Amino acid sequence: MTSAAVLVAAGSGRRMGSPSGARPKQMLPLAGKPLIAYSIDVFSAMEEIQALCIVTQPEWRKEIEALDAIRTLRKPLYWATGGDRRQDSARNGLRALPADTSLVAIHDAARPFPPPQAIAKALQYARKHGGAILAMPVTDTIKKMGNDGVIADTVDRSSLWAAQTPQVFQRDLLMRAYAYADEKGIDVTDDASACEALGHSIGIIPGSRFNLKVTTPEDLILAEAIAQTSQDAAAPHRLS
Ligand code: C5P
Repeated sequence: MTSAAVLVAAGSGRRMGSPSGARPKQMLPLAGKPLIAYSIDVFSAMEEIQALCIVTQPEWRKEIEALDAIRTLRKPLYWATGGDRRQDSARNGLRALPADTSLVAIHDAARPFPPPQAIAKALQYARKHGGAILAMPVTDTIKKMGNDGVIADTVDRSSLWAAQTPQVFQRDLLMRAYAYADEKGIDVTDDASACEALGHSIGIIPGSRFNLKVTTPEDLILAEAIAQTSQDAAAPHRLS
């Protein structure tokens, strides 16, 4: 029973305001090392994870290979090429793993601080029930905006959770879910949505407020502050 982490790192980072061809967000420097190195270090240190797959555009592979996080990795490492959409990248990563991989933790490389204890819980849950994601309860009041730019509705937030990654699944289930999404032409922004479309129940494991996705330049400032508290990527979770 092998569990593998798949790091999807093939996005272009348009919302960071990067011009095309510039460094994508997962390759931006954060307290002295590229963002992606933080999550590689977390999975590298987790004994529950036995292999890693990095999904990237070919032009970034050399730079990732040269990272200390990769040079000191003591686990099998697989590579896959990114696709047009996140779901294409995730699927390419799944295909690159050996057939005896039973569990996969799909993680956005743009999230530098995934919490190891919650990931271990998600792995346990997925092994038993098929799939689980990390998520946080929504704390803001959520408004729906109408076409006219004014509030159309206030959504009851008591059962709302904001999805994070990693999202952990039995590999066969996620392969089937992505095959189904392709067949039906369904676009999804996370992996659980593909399993939901298939009708499969997916569990929710509380994640961490530190597990932010770096999407905008403001997020980078927050991530920098978290990273500065320690060079140890796991340290922020000791505060939570
Ligand atoms: O764009 P978004 O914030 O949803 O991206 C989440 C993660 O998916 C990022 O780590 C990004 O690099 C990755 N991604 C990818 N392939 C794409 C689009 C996004 O690997 N085509």
